[in-house]
This record gives sequence, structure tokens and C-alpha cells, in this order.
Amino acid sequence: MISDYFGSMVFDDRVMKATLSAEVYESLKKTIDEGEQLDVRLASAVADAMKKWAIEKGATHYTHWFQPLNGVTAEKHESFISPSPDGRVIMEFSADALIKGESDASSFPSGGLRATFEARGYTAWDPTSYAFIKDKTLCIPTAFTSYGGEALDKKTPLLRSMEALNKQALRILTLFGNTTVKRVRAMVGPEQEYFLIDSDMYEKRKDLIFTGRTLFGASAPKGQELDDHYYGSIAQRVAEFMQDLNVELWKLGIYAKTEHNEVAPAQHELAPIYTTTNIATDHNQLTMEIMKKVAQRHKLVCLLHEKPFNGVNGSGKHNNWSIATDKGTNLLKPGKTPHENAQFLLFLCAVIKAVDEYQDLLRISVASAGNDHRLGANEAPPAVVSMFLGEELTAVLDAIENDAPYESVERKKMLFGVPALPQFLRDTTDRNRTSPFAFTGNKFEFRMPGSSNSIAEPNVMLNASVAEVLEEFADRLEGSENFAEDLNTLLRETIKAHKRIIFNGNGYDSAWVKEAEGRGLSNLKTTPDCLPKVLEKKNVDMLTRQGVFTETEIRARYEITLENYAKTVMIEAATMIDMAKKEILPAISAFSTKLVRATNDKRNYGIEATYEVVAANKLAELTTLTYSTTEILEKTLLKIKAIADVTEQSNMIRDIMIPKMAELRRYADEAETMTDESVWPYPTYDKLLFAVR
Ligand code: ADP
Ligand code: MG
Repeated sequence: MISDYFGSMVFDDRVMKATLSAEVYESLKKTIDEGEQLDVRLASAVADAMKKWAIEKGATHYTHWFQPLNGVTAEKHESFISPSPDGRVIMEFSADALIKGESDASSFPSGGLRATFEARGYTAWDPTSYAFIKDKTLCIPTAFTSYGGEALDKKTPLLRSMEALNKQALRILTLFGNTTVKRVRAMVGPEQEYFLIDSDMYEKRKDLIFTGRTLFGASAPKGQELDDHYYGSIAQRVAEFMQDLNVELWKLGIYAKTEHNEVAPAQHELAPIYTTTNIATDHNQLTMEIMKKVAQRHKLVCLLHEKPFNGVNGSGKHNNWSIATDKGTNLLKPGKTPHENAQFLLFLCAVIKAVDEYQDLLRISVASAGNDHRLGANEAPPAVVSMFLGEELTAVLDAIENDAPYESVERKKMLFGVPALPQFLRDTTDRNRTSPFAFTGNKFEFRMPGSSNSIAEPNVMLNASVAEVLEEFADRLEGSENFAEDLNTLLRETIKAHKRIIFNGNGYDSAWVKEAEGRGLSNLKTTPDCLPKVLEKKNVDMLTRQGVFTETEIRARYEITLENYAKTVMIEAATMIDMAKKEILPAISAFSTKLVRATNDKRNYGIEATYEVVAANKLAELTTLTYSTTEILEKTLLKIKAIADVTEQSNMIRDIMIPKMAELRRYADEAETMTDESVWPYPTYDKLLFAVR
């Protein structure tokens, strides 16, 4: 039964309660639930209990588990063994080993922090995220900082942003007379999209191996045009993978809940039940890692790239976000009569203002070479940030803005026309699948993050910017003599000033991109376009004021993200050159030679050779184009590699190299459509996308 093994590999509340003394347990719980300073004196009792529990579960090692800025998780395993005087070993895990670890910071990206600080880095236990066992290793979630205390990871700023949001939201709640709430948390449920392909085919493609996506490949005769994959019945091999994956995730206490086929062939989605941002982020990192591992067991490869295949949808990660109190109240829940729910309206307006003022930061938080293929294509929200609120809320806001009476939208009964089917009231608002930031009843769904993105960054920016606005609101209202009136004025002003960010129409329509421009919304299409905005004064001021980043950390992150963009695309270019020269050109050449021979043979017998002649000529032309473009790309890559300044380098990549890569692909893909498939050097789209049954 699921309930027997759910969370069996987690040192969770149940285990803590059972293995710690009442005093230690209570104290630790205060830290976890209320964010109180950790009492380090209890670490030795916790370490001891953790060790016993882990060894009983078969663990031999422990590790500080952290999330450096290279986007994956890092772990350095230490075994529990320690020599004993009699020449044998004892199992040891000290308080010190639990609380703090030392790590060589110079081997992880640090964006120049390395130059000014020592190479030494520290990991520090995060008691708010439970320790767990993975691969016989006790993993302790930790934050990672440099010797000078600068954050070198994704968790530290995330925890800071949660603190900032908590502090300001509590001030607002107090204004509404709510003084019993001790803690306010941002809650997140990330929906994870991914592709599954056969591992034998994967192994034959250098592009998939080196870059996670196909750099060449003509479209298959069939793609997603029949809409027959979305929610379709799940193929046997995939179903087995999903079952296996669920068991692994459940053991780790991850509430994997929903799974279904996505729009593109071979594309799927997994959604967990939402939880606090910190844990949701840790869990999402683990989920991605375990997806890849479990896929291997089924001779499958899980692709988490944002755009593995041209011509069909790419993969995203929808970040469902809300704010909740420790009493379980969702502050973004409108209630039955939203126009009367002033507290909800204040939080709603704070989010509207935050998203409008910091739209560039939200865009930056999802920037990567991979995600540049999605944003602005047909399948994902454009690079313009806007918000969908739906009919009812928009009408409420209109009424406030114009000081007019609110006329409620009537809830209609759903009638199926068949008496046996249940009747229920229709939601007052339809869903919007094309908005980058959609209100979905009691939460916002931020749909721009890419499938391989850590959700830490988007949530840092969301939490921080909303905290900033709440702080401003609280400052304004705290001394108020006439709260109701001042609140009303504040809401009206906010709506007037920021309603340009609200758009309830089709976000994928090109007319919207034009309209958005007219409204003054930014459209930052690529990673090099958007990243420099983080250095603007308003952004640096906000992030430092909220205590989320220091200015040095912001600059370091800017460098690292841009460097990552440049390196990623340069690896892609190098892979294309390699494939073109060693695989594609030789294959076309061999096939062309065959055609020429066939032409001669046929003519010797007096037979016409129309196809052979036309095809050989066309392929000769494409060979020349493929070859010369490869040569140019190679020279371009060499030149760009030599550029020391990463901003200049990235701009060159965006303006010169990426268009060249697209051109090379066009020629090679056209050649693919004319070449005998038995001589084509790697599996084509039809096989990659339709082989897993
Ligand atoms: P859909 O695909 O229709 O958007 P899913 O069920 O696939 O819906 O995913 C919705 C996600 O939103 C789930 O991860 C769910 O746990 C999460 N979610 C639901 N309510 C909240 C909330 N109040 N705060 C944050 N996330 C939520
Ligand atoms: Mg969704």
C-alpha cells in the first residue's frame, strides 16, 4: 500500500517525533514552522537520531545536498565509518557534520566572486527541508555560501525571499486585525513537462547526448496536428515508467499526483501536490533527477530540455504560486464575494503591481538558451509578461477603479442535456492557457519557466517583488486614521497605475505583442536581451532592500547566467559542425554517388533516369550549401570563443551564430528529406517521436 511506504526514506515529522526527545522535537519544530533561530545545541541529538535511522534503512554514507549555480544538485558523499581503537570501525555522524560542511567553492560557478573571495565555501544545514535517503546516502539539504558569506546557490536567496514575504505579509494581516498568524508562506506546485524517447535511438544522436536537444531533423509526416496525444491513453512502456517513478518519488515524500500525456508526441507531464516554496524547489530538483534515473531502467531517456524537437511543442514548467498562513488560509482565495473581501483585494493588487513593476525580473528568472526557443514561439507565452485575471475579477477591479457599483457575474448551471449527468455550477471564469501569469481561482500560474529551470529563481523574484509592494502598502496604511477609505484609495490608485499588465485575451496572438508594445510592456526576446536589466537601479535597489541579494551577488549571477548561455550555444554549434562534417556530409555524398552510378547504369540500358538526375543535382547543391555554411559556422565559432567579454560574446552569438546555425540546419534537413533513410546516419523524427509504445 502506498501509505506503507510513502515518505519511508524521509526523516520527516513523524520520524522526528518518534526518535527525538520531546524537548528537542519542540525546539526543532519551532524552527521549522515559525522560522525561529536554530538552537545549535540540539544538533547533536538530531545528528544521532538521523544516523541511527539512516543506518537502519541501509545508508552507509551521508552528504550535504545543495544547489549550486550550475543548475543541478551537488553532493559529496562521506561514509559514516570512523576508525575505532581496536582497529575496526564505528559509525559516526557528529553535530558538526550535520550543521556545516566545507566545500571547494572554486569548482562551482561563482561569477567572479572567486577572484575576490577565497576558494573555500560552506554548506549549512537547512532544517526547514527534511533530510532523506537516496542511493544508500543520507542527504541533508543545505545552503551553500562562499567564505565571505555570499550565496553561491539557489536555496539561500529563496529562503531569504520567503523571509521577506513573511515579514511584510504579517504586517498587512495585522492591519486587518489578524494577529494570531505567526507565519506566512509562499506555496508552490510546479507542473513538470518532459519527453521520453528510446535509449537506443538516443545513443545514436550526438546532439541529444551533448546538448539535450536535436540540432538537426526534418519534421515527421505526422506531428501534433491531430491533437491525439494530449490526455491520450498512456503507452504501456510509459505507464510502467510512470508507476516506477511514482513509487520512487513517494518513498521520498514527494506528492506526485497528476500524470498525463502532453500535446506533443512522446511528451508527458507530472504535477505534485503543492507545498512550501523551499520544499517544492528541493522536490522538483529531486524529481528531475529521479525521472532521468528511472527512465534508464526502462531503456528510455527522459529529456528535460525546453525544445528537444523542432515543429512540436517544447516543455515548460508551470509554477503555481499562492500565499498561505500557518493557519491554512490561502490569502489569494477570493471567497464567495470578492468585491467585499478587502484583504484579498489588497494582496491581489500587490501582485498586480509587483508583476508590472518587476516584469523584467520575472522574464530574467526564466532566461536560458533553451527557454529562448519556447518564449515567443506558438506553444508558450510570448516573452511579454502579462496577467490574466478573468472576467469576474476584472469587473471587480473596474468597479473599484471607477468607483461604480459592482454587478456580479451570474454563475450559470452547467447543463449537459442528459438528466443522468450531474449538474454543477460553472466556474465564473474560463481558463486561459495563453497567459504567462494566469489567475486560476486561488493561485497564480506562472507559465514561462522552462522545463529544466530550477523553480528557485522565479520564486525568488516573485516573493521579493510582492514583499516589496506589500512593504510599501503597509508603510502607507499603518498610520491611517480612516483605514477603509485609505485602503480604497490605495487600491484605486494601484489599479489605475498598473492595469496595463492585465490582459485577458489570447496571449499567443501576434496582435497582442503589438498591443503590449503600445502599453509600454517590455518584450525581451532572448537571454542576452533581458539579462542586463537585472543591473538596473530599480531592480538592484529592490532586491538589496528586501535582503534577497547583495549587489555583488546580483552581478555574479548576471555573469554566470550569461556565461552559461554562451557556453551552451557554443557547444551546440560545435556539435553541429561535428555532425555535419563526420556524419551528414558523408552520408549525402555516398547517396549522391549511388544516384550518379544508377544514372549511368540506366542510361547504358537506354532507360531514362529522371529521378536520379534531378535528385543528384539537388543534393549536390545542398551538399555545397551545407559544406560552406559549416565552414562559416566553424570560423564564427572560433572568433566568438576568443571574445573575453561575456556580454559582447553573447550578443555575437545571438546576432551572428544562432542565425548561421539555423541556416545550416535548413540545408541539412532538406537533404535528409531526399536521402535514402537506410543510409541516414542517425534516427529521424518519425522514429524518435513515435517509437515508444
Ligand atoms: P492544470 O494542469 O489544470 O493547471 P494541475 O492539476 O496539473 O492543473 O496542476 C495544478 C498544480 O497547482 C498542482 O501542482 C497543484 O498542487 C497546484 N496548486 C493547487 N492549489 C494551489 C495553491 N493554492 N497554491 C499553489 N499551488 C497550488
Ligand atoms: Mg497548469
